[in-house]
Parts: sequence; structure tokens; C-alpha cells
Amino acid sequence: MKVRYGVSPQALLALNKLDLQHPVRCVARCSHALDLMASVASCRLRYCPRCDSRPDRFERCERARRYLKMSRKRDVARINGPLLCLLHKCAAEEADRSGSFRVNRIRVGSSGNPLSFVAAQVDVARIIREISPSYQSLETLQKAYFAVFIMSILHPFEDGNGRTMRMWLISLAASSESAEVAEFVSFLALYVKFRQRDLVVAMDQLSEGFVSGVQEFHAAAVTFFEGLFDEEASARVFDWAISIEPEGSLLARAW
Ligand SMILES: [Zn+2]
Ligand SMILES: [Zn+2]
Repeated sequence: MKVRYGVSPQALLALNKLDLQHPVRCVARCSHALDLMASVASCRLRYCPRCDSRPDRFERCERARRYLKMSRKRDVARINGPLLCLLHKCAAEEADRSGSFRVNRIRVGSSGNPLSFVAAQVDVARIIREISPSYQSLETLQKAYFAVFIMSILHPFEDGNGRTMRMWLISLAASSESAEVAEFVSFLALYVKFRQRDLVVAMDQLSEGFVSGVQEFHAAAVTFFEGLFDEEASARVFDWAISIEPEGSLLARAW
């Protein structure tokens, strides 16, 4: 099984080279997209005892509202260790060692998956310090894939990496320069889960320094996004967002 020792120099170079097309202006009035994606991330992808994850209730759930508020408050234009730990604490408060980086090595991915790997015991805080300057200079879409890469390949936390990644993306969306990018990045927070298998392949390639996998993943995401956020989008976006498979056995429920 592959063992990964943090973030390789060729992966960092590749992240800086990513050439990502921007989504075109969506015609639908979907300014609530960010709220919707945040609510799904908060209350649908994990079971929420507050609203019971019900499709008719989760958008008004107090936890969803708090999740959105916390996401908007975080400034992720730059990152550092304490900020990532804070994101983890907000996104995964009941995870083991909530708010702290992992110390031990960890196995990532299910046993049958050929792309599962061991994230070696590394000094996560030091790695974040080393890579944060190159994050700062990226544009928003590159930052989004940087976030996805760090959370999936470095796997900074023992548990709750996916949840932290989604909150990072939603925070990034909340401070995006344009409505299209904001909507797209909030959509991406769920799409990475929706197309998880493709994502795993793309991230593995990126770790070797190849950009084509992520660029194809992104092109497919943009096409999907533009189809979804078409005219009369609202109902379709909602139906898609609540169709995404939740995490963990707790959520294996009718809705
Ligand atoms: Zn729109
Ligand atoms: Zn809820």
C-alpha cells in the first residue's frame, strides 16, 4: 500500500499550475445556493438530531444556521495551523481530538480500494506552515482544489477531514469575488462527495505532479454545475443537493 509523507514538492508545483475554467454566469436566481449547500453539509451529510435531517426542515435548522454563520466568519484567504484547527473544531465538534492535528499515522480509504493509502506520521503543523505561502497567492478556484488536496492527501486530522474540507470550501465560497464563483465553490463542496471516486483518482495523480486529472474533474464539475443551475434551477438544485449519500451508518435512513 502506498505511504504518503505529507505534500510532495511536485504536488505543490502542480497545484500552482492548475488552469481552471470559470463557470459562466448562471441564469437562474440561485443566490440561496450557498445557504442551501451549507445546510446540506451541516444537516444532511451527517445525521442531525436537531432537525432529524428531514428534507422539509433542515434548511431552517438552527444548527445549519450556526454552520453558515461560522463559515462566513472564517477568513480563508490565507491559512495557518490554528485556523485549520478552528475549522475542524467548528465542522467536526464531536470528532476525536476535535481541533487538533493528528499525531499518528492513519489509513485512508476502505480496505478494498486500490487507491487507499497510509498517511505517515508527519509533523502536520510544520507542513501547513511550509505550504501556506503558496496557497495565499492562488486564485479562488485553485484555492478550492488546494483545500481538497490537503484534506484528502495530507489528511491532517484523525477524523472529520471531509467535514473540515466542506466548511473550508463554503468559507471560501462566502468570500468569493463573484456570484458565479461563490455558487460554484459552494456547489463544489458537495460535488466532491457526489463524485468521490473520480476525485480520489484526480488527487492521486495530482500528488504525482500531474494536473490533467484535476482539470478533467473540474471540467466535468463545471458542465454539471451549468446544467444544474439553469433556468428554473431552484427545485433541481435542491433535489440534487439532498440526493447526495450521507456519511456513516447513522444516516442510513429513508431520507
Ligand atoms: Zn446564480
Ligand atoms: Zn439540522
